[in-house]
Amino acid sequence: MKCRICRNRAQVHLRQHNLALCREHFVERFEREVLKTIRKYRMFTPEDPVLVAVSGGKDSLAVLYLLAKHGYNVRGFYIDLGIDGGIGYSSVSREKVEAFQEKFGIPVEIYPLKLRHDLAIPDLVHHRRQQVPCSMCGTVKRYLMNWKAVTGGFQVVVTGHNLDDEVATLFGNTLRWDVRYLARQGPYLPSNHPRMAAKAKPFAFMSEKEVALYAIFNGIDYIRDECPFAEGAKSILYKEILNTLEERSPGTKLRFYREFLAFREKVLSGLPAEEAPPLRSCTVCGMPTTLEVCAFCRLVGRKTPSEVSS
Ligand code: SF4
Ligand SMILES: [Zn+2]
Ligand SMILES: [Zn+2]
Repeated sequence: MKCRICRNRAQVHLRQHNLALCREHFVERFEREVLKTIRKYRMFTPEDPVLVAVSGGKDSLAVLYLLAKHGYNVRGFYIDLGIDGGIGYSSVSREKVEAFQEKFGIPVEIYPLKLRHDLAIPDLVHHRRQQVPCSMCGTVKRYLMNWKAVTGGFQVVVTGHNLDDEVATLFGNTLRWDVRYLARQGPYLPSNHPRMAAKAKPFAFMSEKEVALYAIFNGIDYIRDECPFAEGAKSILYKEILNTLEERSPGTKLRFYREFLAFREKVLSGLPAEEAPPLRSCTVCGMPTTLEVCAFCRLVGRKTPSEVSS
């Protein structure tokens, strides 16, 4: 198979676009598409300070790399969650982040949860007598990313969510007809509170395979293992189902997502806003919450990041 642009030997075949490309033209197209998404959704400009949530995985390291390469004003933020799971998950992912920083000279701040809050994510399983700590881990990550952004002068938090992640979430939300989540799902979520940063997903239209190839072609080394707590997660099952559909009918994921966004624009954005409870300030840390004390402060006690960082 030959590259559609230069006719040299193709290294990638994107079935969803029926497009074969060599390595160079794949990278060029990938970056062009991502930059188009950033502009289309007015996510940020090259001058805006942007905080990139980094996990050590391919998606987040690749998005940080791409933005830095194109002159965006980026900084990475990595939270060491203290997860081992028999594979040293957090230590390996942290090593990948540190090696990335060293190799490309792109700054990433490391936030060690255990050191700052005397708490690692696995502790939450025993604490709350739950099987997996994912919902609490999500709370901790979302809170700290937002806290870092608003206290560090960043307008927006970028995450590496790709098309496969977005479509799996959309599938789950649709199965539950969770209209409130559906109305807020998309590549860009503007801020709705002075202490709440906007959220942007520049890879929302790029498949997991495309992101992995982009990372590999650019010499980005990343952690291959999934978090040990992810095993059995519903999102993995949804991804398997969607992969089967994509295999039989290439382009299904992209169509599902694009059609959803068009539908959201026309229908869901017109829904009355009163369904969402109003935001107020947490009485402990001052960050936005719907309750008197925010979920993070209830989980980690009274040691807020400002108190432990200083
Ligand atoms: S799989 Fe669960 S515990 Fe692991 S990083 Fe993700 S949310 Fe946290
Ligand atoms: Zn080519
Ligand atoms: Zn709080």
